[in-house]
Amino acid sequence: MQALESTSTHLGKRRFLRGVLSATAAAIAIQSGLKMASASKPDSPVNLTPDGALQQLRDGNQRFAANQLTSIHHDLVLLKERTADKQEPFAAVLACADSRVPVELIFDQTIGHIFVTRVAGNMVTPEIIASLEYGVAVLGVRALLVLGHTNCGAVKAAMKAEPVPGQISVLYKHLQAAVGQSGGDVGKAIALNATHQAQLLQSASTVIRDALGTGKLRVDAAVYDVATGKVTVV
Ligand SMILES: [Zn+2]
Repeated sequence: MQALESTSTHLGKRRFLRGVLSATAAAIAIQSGLKMASASKPDSPVNLTPDGALQQLRDGNQRFAANQLTSIHHDLVLLKERTADKQEPFAAVLACADSRVPVELIFDQTIGHIFVTRVAGNMVTPEIIASLEYGVAVLGVRALLVLGHTNCGAVKAAMKAEPVPGQISVLYKHLQAAVGQSGGDVGKAIALNATHQAQLLQSASTVIRDALGTGKLRVDAAVYDVATGKVTVV
């Protein structure tokens, strides 16, 4: 009985010590997480120029393409707390719905950094314009990027223009301008479509046009290469 008690007391001490040690480790982890998160907090878009915002996207994509991600080290719990009441994304991106184009990941960004709209063929519709206008006028994003990608199924389908189930063919009319100028070259059609949609945003939205005119925003078109992971502004 005594031996048992002794063992039990010993075990209790060990458990206690283990508890203290793991609590200390947790405290250190929380502290380093705090430091990491605050060090990597993106600049408020108010303090960024449009060129600086685009550069942040370029830099992030370079890190992604080189397998040197930094965003995965952010403390997500802290970021959720910090962004629960407000968001301050520095850029907006209109990308394709394609599963190979995870926008935050390919720009090495995390919660609260990019205002993302996605639709197959990264095309401009009234709803997309409304969403992006919110990003520009209310959230104050400094860069707006229309992002096409290599091997885009929507663009390829629009080029073939074959019968498809349901309402899929609704997408085609938005892609026709680029498809018509591509001379049958898929890569060219993808780049042309990104450029065309970026121009459409500027001609169709007074909010975007005004922000461009006052130097608060830049609008660019780019293509993401699903094989290399690299984004090229076109
Ligand atoms: Zn696509």
